Amino acid sequence: MGDLSNGAGADFYKIPAIKFTKLFINGEFVDSISGKTFETIDPRTGEVIANVAEGTKEDVDLAVKAAREAFDSGPWPRMPGVARAKIMLKFADLIDQNREELAALDAVDAGKLYNWLKNVDLPNIVNTLRYYAGAADKIHGETLKMSRELQGYTLMEPVGVVGHIIPWNFPSSLFFTKVSPALAAGCTMIVKPAEQTPLSALFYAHLAKQAGIPDGVLNVVPGFGPTAGAAITSHMDIDAVSFTGSTEVGRQVMEAAARSNLKKVSLELGGKSPLIIFDDADLDKAAELALIGILFNKGEICCAGSRVFVQEGIYDELEKKLVEKAKSWVVGDPFDPKVQQGPQCDKRQFDKILSYIEHGKREGATLLTGGKIIGDKGYYIEPTIFSNIKDDMLIAQDEIFGPVLALTKFKTIDEAILRANNTRYGLAAGIVTKNIDTANTVSRSVRAGTIWINCYFAFGDDVPFGGYKMSGFGRDYGLEALHKYMQVKSVVTPIYNSPW
Ligand code: NAD
Repeated sequence: MGDLSNGAGADFYKIPAIKFTKLFINGEFVDSISGKTFETIDPRTGEVIANVAEGTKEDVDLAVKAAREAFDSGPWPRMPGVARAKIMLKFADLIDQNREELAALDAVDAGKLYNWLKNVDLPNIVNTLRYYAGAADKIHGETLKMSRELQGYTLMEPVGVVGHIIPWNFPSSLFFTKVSPALAAGCTMIVKPAEQTPLSALFYAHLAKQAGIPDGVLNVVPGFGPTAGAAITSHMDIDAVSFTGSTEVGRQVMEAAARSNLKKVSLELGGKSPLIIFDDADLDKAAELALIGILFNKGEICCAGSRVFVQEGIYDELEKKLVEKAKSWVVGDPFDPKVQQGPQCDKRQFDKILSYIEHGKREGATLLTGGKIIGDKGYYIEPTIFSNIKDDMLIAQDEIFGPVLALTKFKTIDEAILRANNTRYGLAAGIVTKNIDTANTVSRSVRAGTIWINCYFAFGDDVPFGGYKMSGFGRDYGLEALHKYMQVKSVVTPIYNSPW
């Protein structure tokens, strides 16, 4: 298990200079109208990193006014796609040049691994921006033959002013998952980062200005959900809201949109994803996938493989391997290059995970390893594996969003499919098998937006990602994501000499 004396010690205790703490509205960093600020906390210690301006309804109103003007009369939606692309590519280059500082901001704000951020997440973000920059001049409609008298065509138009509301588990990646296609489409926008992790979003606002994104196009308003978030979802002058977060809040987002101006809504919500391992799997690979599936990003990932189903022929051996691997997983300071798991993002999440662990014990599941906190400060939790799971247990149904795995045995493929689908969620699923028929059957039968066969967390800019069932609707990534930020306009005209 991780040694915190080695992790949270002075050697790795890096808090970068915090340069941006104000709201970013209409191209300027400004105080909130109320003058209020809120603390953002270092999850390694529970100490305050910085005080950040707290946006509320009045600030959202100002940001929407700026975004509306930028949309209705500014250059961004009107410029050729290739001109938008040029600015987006510059934005991508600037992010690339600032990777170390940006990685340090998310590491200290969210407890994410510094090296992973710098070497994987941020290069991926740069690619995401470049991918959508490449799409910006290839957005087009269709020609429609109609009849002898009429012909038509469709125009793909930007939807208008967009509100992006994002959670804390991937503050940078999710910022660009949303902002990149919306910029390519020609929208203007307000981003509300999560109250736990506002720092990198403000740095991105600064880089956007440097890149030449016109004032008012990209506004960033940190604040809390029920105030700043709700002001976005219920705003009469926002045309679309793109939300990533919990299913519970997703429902409120949809209600607020319905009660206000029926704005277009897309929801990327929670999950309780199954990983199904068949008897013919390579045991080491399967154990590795199961481990990464639950421990990557401390389990704070919407598509975590939090329910692992193992076929009975290899169950005992796989359980043994998995527990051994979990015991040697290194938990500690996310700046330490040896560390594989940092602290949970905040106190609320830490307490929530611990209460699910207690619940699992009370429900009668067997605690194979973990279950305890590590150290006496910060929000560190041991990798935790439960077995003897019944599908109706809370730890098998609720999204825990932490390093807590429900491990269970199955006999037949039909049983595996039935039990994998026994969830209100449908975000992702994994299958480990060498049998193509098994892989094909399961991938068509499990109701989830993404299926990984013999891999897990394999994302790509061109691969749409999103949910079935209560994991939401709409897709991030791929050309598919552009549809969230566009409208289809049909134009019809008579053909020369027609009776019209
Ligand atoms: P959350 O729903 O509590 O908060 C998400 C965002 O919504 C935050 O910015 C928050 O301030 C805001 N918010 C809260 N109440 C609001 C309200 N009434 N109106 C408008 N906005 C409001 O979620 P969280 O705890 O920050 O994040 C974890 C959740 O996000 C998990 O359920 C996870 O599965 C989900 N998630 C989903 C995906 C995906 O792609 N499907 C990706 C990452 C995270």
